[in-house]
Amino acid sequence: MKKMKKFLAIALAGVMMLSATACGSGESSNETTGDSAKKETITFGTNAEFPPFEFVTSEGTIGEFDGIDMAIAKQIGEDMGKEAVINNMEFDSLLLALDNGQVDAVIAGMTVTDERKEAYDFSTPYYTATQVMIVKEDSDIKTAADMKDKKIVVIQGYTGETCVQDMGYSYEAFKKGTEAVLELVNGKCDVVVIDSATAEKFVGDNEGLKIVEDSSAFEAEEYAIAVKKGNSELLNQINSSIQKMLDNGTVSELSAKYLDMDTDDASSSDAE
Ligand code: GLN
Repeated sequence: MKKMKKFLAIALAGVMMLSATACGSGESSNETTGDSAKKETITFGTNAEFPPFEFVTSEGTIGEFDGIDMAIAKQIGEDMGKEAVINNMEFDSLLLALDNGQVDAVIAGMTVTDERKEAYDFSTPYYTATQVMIVKEDSDIKTAADMKDKKIVVIQGYTGETCVQDMGYSYEAFKKGTEAVLELVNGKCDVVVIDSATAEKFVGDNEGLKIVEDSSAFEAEEYAIAVKKGNSELLNQINSSIQKMLDNGTVSELSAKYLDMDTDDASSSDAE
């Protein structure tokens, strides 16, 4: 039985290699291609709850994982001659996973902050975002100051939580963006503070919501890849890949593609 499976896998690998150029991405599992079985791997930690950067879907860029970050991770792997592997975990656990060597790098729409920079090294930034407020279409919230005395929901460990904390407002923290947005849809809170591109996705996927921006209250944030402090060899490799993708337009193309794509799959798959 095992032998049969192996034979099938090799046969399948042959077929996939022939069709690889035609269909782009096949199964990314290491057993299916004889070639990648021998390849070294680079493991990226992510939290696949953050469309359009990372979400779970039936056929992703790296296994079941898709999004801007996943495509970037795959390309970094290719540039290093390694296979990119994803370790999906809670956002709060990502940097700890770097500490204990569970992952080589973290790619998770992660904002470079002074606090994070103290303990980890960050790559060249590849995306600029900001926090925004998602509210019901008929909401009277027009600025961040209007959130005072409103029921605010944030996502635990995100920079949005820090922003609301710094403003001195009380809030409730949820583990997932989809849960936070559901709370708003169900009228159990007045506003969700979350990153701009992800907010656009959630507003597109749910009726009756809109985005309110306040650039005087929320600063620009830059997303970058985190590595263990002092791991300059890996950081240099990652930086040269990112620079290439910024220069040749890959990052802008990916952003446009995934912002446009129906990533609702992501919200439904983690709805349970
Ligand atoms: N940019 C936010 C942060 O770094 C949220 C990132 C995310 O949820 N993946 O905290």
